[in-house]
Amino acid sequence: MKSLPFANGRNLSRRRFLAGSAAAAWTALQLGACRPPEGPDRTAAVQTVLGPVDPQRLGATLMHEHAPTVDWSELYATPAAPLGSLRERMLAETAEMLNAFHQSLSAADGPGAIVECTPIRVGRYPQLMVDLARRTPVHIIASTGFWCEALAPQHPWAVRLGIEPDGAARMADLFVREITEGMEDPGGERGDRFTSIRAGAIKIGTSALMRPSEKAVHIAAAMASRRTGCPITTHTTDGGGLEQARLLLESGADPGRVIIGHQGHMDDGKNAEAGDYHLQIARLGCYLQFDRVGAGNYDCDKQARLIHNLIAGGYERRILVSHDHVPYFYRDFSAESKGSQGWRENRADFTIATTKLATSLEQLGVPSDQIRTILVENPRRVLAF
Ligand SMILES: [Zn+2]
Repeated sequence: MKSLPFANGRNLSRRRFLAGSAAAAWTALQLGACRPPEGPDRTAAVQTVLGPVDPQRLGATLMHEHAPTVDWSELYATPAAPLGSLRERMLAETAEMLNAFHQSLSAADGPGAIVECTPIRVGRYPQLMVDLARRTPVHIIASTGFWCEALAPQHPWAVRLGIEPDGAARMADLFVREITEGMEDPGGERGDRFTSIRAGAIKIGTSALMRPSEKAVHIAAAMASRRTGCPITTHTTDGGGLEQARLLLESGADPGRVIIGHQGHMDDGKNAEAGDYHLQIARLGCYLQFDRVGAGNYDCDKQARLIHNLIAGGYERRILVSHDHVPYFYRDFSAESKGSQGWRENRADFTIATTKLATSLEQLGVPSDQIRTILVENPRRVLAF
């Protein structure tokens, strides 16, 4: 792994620095200063919903999860689903699921962390994530960005910005604000109110064919990543990862800040196991994320084979894993009037990647230090900025 710029004995002073001068530093970043320089003087932190964390304090990290909720209502221009009386149960049960993940880790590989990949206004409630984070040792990193995929339209806010002449720049400003100051509060009108809870990743996506509004979101994400150093993590739909990577890099993103997600099945649109395609993305310097481990077409042995192929190509430092679990998804998202009975609850197992997938990798002869690189070291590197 990349050696970190501070020795253990300096952690306290670094934390004080982060607390004391965060406002000035973030303001400078927001004014368009480039991301902090790489090198021995760079102070990098992982931006969790409870504040910046020394990357060394992150254990095994699941890079694409949702907790506790996803709600597509706003994509369909219908009112958001009520959390209401279910809020407390959502918190308690999701904390239990995350705690089970944490408890499955050895002391050296904890505390666990998840990247919460629910972007703006599709069930992303910043305060809910903070309340969840306070109930579990698992770190939670939230996401800015706009989502879409073949089955769901892009958020109307993104579509509108995407067709305006300076829309990509304004979208980038929104992402930067969410990363440096705090995420939007979905309780108000769009863009009216902001929390002080910061995002630590930029989540974007494409349909089976990249739409114009999706292209604008990619350009905005590259701009925001360049200004802040924040990583970009993508949703792909039956392929399109290479196209995403190329567009992001052409738009100025650093390949070491780009994570191409939902890999592991039909990623080139043709082959169930598209190993050569993964190598093409890795050669660009981007990360490949196998984030549906254990689900349907993404069984552990198949994911392990694809990961092994990348390791054999020398790319073990470009591999990330996760499950894409959604404990609470609102089923009746297109309904005009909604009640709490529309929530679908999933008892999600957040330990598959660290247990069953790790076993599948061992069976292919992947040594434990390389498995640790994938589960612990790679997330620390890509999430710190
Ligand atoms: Zn997801």
